[in-house]
Amino acid sequence: MTDVTVLGAGPAGLAAALELAESGVNVTVIEQQEHVGGNATSFDFGGVHVDYGSHRLHPASPPQVLERIRGLLGDDLLTRPRHGRIRLMGRWIHFPLRPLDLLLRMHPRFATGVGIDLVRKALPAGNANSAEPTFATILEHGLGKTICNEFYFPYARKIWGIEPEQISPIQAYKRVSAGSIGKMLKRLMPGGTGSGGASTKGIFYYPRYGFGQISQALLAAAVKAGATVQLGSSVSKIQLSGDSPRVVYTNSSGTHEIDTNQVYSTIPVTLLARLVDTKVPAAVQAAAESLEFRSMVLVYLLLEQDRFTEYDAHYFPGQDYPFTRISETKNYSDRSEPAGRTSLCAEVPCFLDDTTWKASDEVLARKISDGLELAGLPITADILKVQVKRIPFAYPLFTVGYEQQFSKLDRWVDGLDGVLSFGRQGLYVHDNTHHAIFMAQAAVECLRDDGSIDKDAWHRQRKIFETHVVED
Ligand SMILES: Cc1cc2nc3c(=O)[nH]c(=O)nc-3n(C[C@H](O)[C@H](O)[C@H](O)COP(=O)(O)OP(=O)(O)OC[C@H]3O[C@@H](n4cnc5c(N)ncnc54)[C@H](O)[C@@H]3O)c2cc1C
Repeated sequence: MTDVTVLGAGPAGLAAALELAESGVNVTVIEQQEHVGGNATSFDFGGVHVDYGSHRLHPASPPQVLERIRGLLGDDLLTRPRHGRIRLMGRWIHFPLRPLDLLLRMHPRFATGVGIDLVRKALPAGNANSAEPTFATILEHGLGKTICNEFYFPYARKIWGIEPEQISPIQAYKRVSAGSIGKMLKRLMPGGTGSGGASTKGIFYYPRYGFGQISQALLAAAVKAGATVQLGSSVSKIQLSGDSPRVVYTNSSGTHEIDTNQVYSTIPVTLLARLVDTKVPAAVQAAAESLEFRSMVLVYLLLEQDRFTEYDAHYFPGQDYPFTRISETKNYSDRSEPAGRTSLCAEVPCFLDDTTWKASDEVLARKISDGLELAGLPITADILKVQVKRIPFAYPLFTVGYEQQFSKLDRWVDGLDGVLSFGRQGLYVHDNTHHAIFMAQAAVECLRDDGSIDKDAWHRQRKIFETHVVED
C-alpha cells in the first residue's frame, strides 16, 4: 500500500488527504495548529462564526471542486448576493460595481479623470508604453492614471507594503481581472460577465456556519475514508537521503518520524527548502531567502447589536484607513442568530514583527474604531470583546524580479525525489481556495500506483495552474 504524508491541513492538504484516502492510499496529515483550515479557517467569536478575513467561495470554482464541496456541505452551501461598498474619494460605491449606482455616486473629479484617460488612450501616442513593465506601468497603461492613483495604487501600497513600481507585472495579470477600462465597462453592462458567467454575476457561495466549514467537512470526510490527521504537530525535518522519505515532526508528546513514499507539502515552499536534509545549492538558498510573505493582523470586535450595517464587506483603498477591508460575517450567511450580537473583522496588512504586528489588542481596536469613525461609520454599540489573530503567511510578495528567484527554487524543489509542493504557500501564489483544492485534486491524479509521481502529468497540471486568476 502507498503511504503519503501531507504537510499542512489547510484546504489543499485536506482535499489531498480526502482524495488520497478515497483512492486507497494510506495517508497521514501533519498540521502545526490545533485546528484545520489554515488561512481559510473559522472560529467561534462570542457566538458568531467568524472567518480569517473576508472569505467567499467564488462561482469561478472549477466544476469538480464545486461538486466536491456541494457534495460535502449539501444545503449548507448557500448562494448569496454580493453586497459590499468601496470608500472612494469620501464616497461609498457599491461593490461589485453597478452602473446606476456608479453614475450617481462617483465623485465628479473621478468621472472626469476617467473620461480624460479614455480619450488619451484613444489617441495614437496614448498607447505607447516603453517602460520596463511593472504592476504600475501595466495598470496605468490599461486603466489610466485616475483609477490607478485613486484606487489601485493606494490599495496596493497598503496590501503589499511597497510602491506599485516595485511590484512585479505578474501581480497585475493575476490579481486584476479587468485589465482595461473597456473590460471594466463591459462587465458593468447588463449581461456582462464576471468570471463566472452572466448567471453567477454578483453572487458567491458561502457555508452556513462560516467558510471554515469547508475544511471541517473535508477533514470529516478524509478521516471517514481512513486518513490520520495529527494536529498540534510541527514538521521539523524532511529526510530525503535514505531509501524512502522520512518526515520528522514534533508535538506535545515528543519528536516522531514517519517513513513514507511521498511527501505532499502545502507548507510555505521557502520553509520546505529549510526543512529538507538535501544540500541546497547556494543560488537556490539565496533565492529562497529573497522571497518574502506579507503578513496580516485580523482585529475582531464583538458588538452588542443585531447588525452593524447591511453590507457584507467594506473596502478601503485609501491610506487614511489602517485596514484594507472590514467584514461583517453575519451578513455573509444571513444568519439572524445570535440575536443582539454581531462582529466585525478588520484586515490590517503588515510585515512580520513590525509595529502593527506587535501592537496590543487595545491599540489595534482603537485604530479600527477611529478608522471607522473617519469613514462615517462610528461604532455606537458596546464593544463586548476584542480578539486579534496574526497570520504570518498571508500573501506572497511579488516584488519586481521575484519570478526569477521563485523559478530557481521551484526547479530545485521539482527535482526532489519524493516531495511534491502545491497549494497557495507551496507554489507561492495568491490563489483562492478553489484553486488550492484544484491543485490537490491534480496532485492526487499524478500519483502512480507504485507510489511515484508522474512528473510529466504534473508539469501539464502546472501549466493549468498558471492560468488561475485570483478573485477578490
Ligand atoms: C485575508 C485573506 C482573504 C482571503 N479571501 C479568500 C476568499 O474570499 N476566497 C477564497 O477562495 N480564498 C481566499 N483567500 C485565500 C485562502 O485563504 C487560501 O486560498 C487557502 O487558505 C489556501 O489553502 P492552502 O491549504 O493552500 O494553504 P493554507 O491555508 O495556508 O494552509 C497551509 C497549512 O500549513 C500549515 N503549516 C505551515 N507550516 C507547517 C509546519 N512546519 N508543520 C505543519 N504544518 C504547517 C499551516 O498551519 C496551514 O494550516 C484569502 C486569504 C487571505 C489571507
